[in-house]
Amino acid sequence: MGFERREILLILGVVFLMVGLLPFLAPVYSVIVAVAVFLGIKVVVKKRKKQLQKIVGAGVCAVCGSKIDNNKCPKCDLPSGPEKG
Ligand SMILES: [Zn+2]
Repeated sequence: MGFERREILLILGVVFLMVGLLPFLAPVYSVIVAVAVFLGIKVVVKKRKKQLQKIVGAGVCAVCGSKIDNNKCPKCDLPSGPEKG
């Protein structure tokens, strides 16, 4: 489990945000805000990654190369063949 470069940038950004808030808020609150922003962004990124995986990661059929839909190939998994039980 290594840090992604994007994650380091995110942490840097949050740290800068925290420092920027210091003159306006008590240190405790700026830390809380920074952590909240960090967690919020992480959740959003995770959700987006999952969504992307749903779209892209479902992949294509190994047989015909069609886009997999609902874990099924729209071409190969059609119950059209009479030989198919
Ligand atoms: Zn197929």
